[in-house]
Amino acid sequence: MNIILFGAPGVGKGTQAAILAERLGVPHISTGAIFRSAVAAGKPLGLEAKRYMDDGLLVPDELTTRIALDALDEPACANGFILDGYPRNIGQAEALAAALTAKGTSVGKVIYLTAPLDELVERMLKRGRVDDTEDVIRTRFEVYDAETSPVLNYFRAIDHVTEINGVGDVDEVHERIVAALNGSVQVDNA
Ligand code: AMP
Repeated sequence: MNIILFGAPGVGKGTQAAILAERLGVPHISTGAIFRSAVAAGKPLGLEAKRYMDDGLLVPDELTTRIALDALDEPACANGFILDGYPRNIGQAEALAAALTAKGTSVGKVIYLTAPLDELVERMLKRGRVDDTEDVIRTRFEVYDAETSPVLNYFRAIDHVTEINGVGDVDEVHERIVAALNGSVQVDNA
């Protein structure tokens, strides 16, 4: 099953994607994490991406789609994957759909995690990532509203979206996601 974790910055996509990927035994692909490790390693990709990340802006599609689709090309993704932080605009959603169609597969399920804005901001400030300052957080929400939230309607139009309340402790939210996926995928009730 190909799963996309979707939602606003700070909603817990990364945390939930990691736990779910482990439980399902499929790769967790986070474009943000790929960029951060390229930054840490001083790679040209990181230097380019950092210019946008530091300001809370989207890294250009050309770069982002290439790294996302390269990751999906790995043999480990053949039995499914959890995507976190991609796609983030309509162009990326279309590129993903085209790439999956070319592979004879498709987006299986979009899990849309939600939480109130004040809780999102509080979580991000606690997380304390370099791009979690107040100014940058504000920009990231603006970018989410303008560019990323339309992706939800794109997926809703093709009937993929399940909305999950992201408020609660990590295990509680995880179990909600598993319950929503049951019926779509075999999840061991470990
Ligand atoms: P994240 O870890 O998902 O919050 O991503 C951190 C930053 O990486 C974002 O604020 C963007 O600058 C960049 N980034 C991650 N994923 C994407 C994407 N799909 N499109 C464009 N930029 C991205």
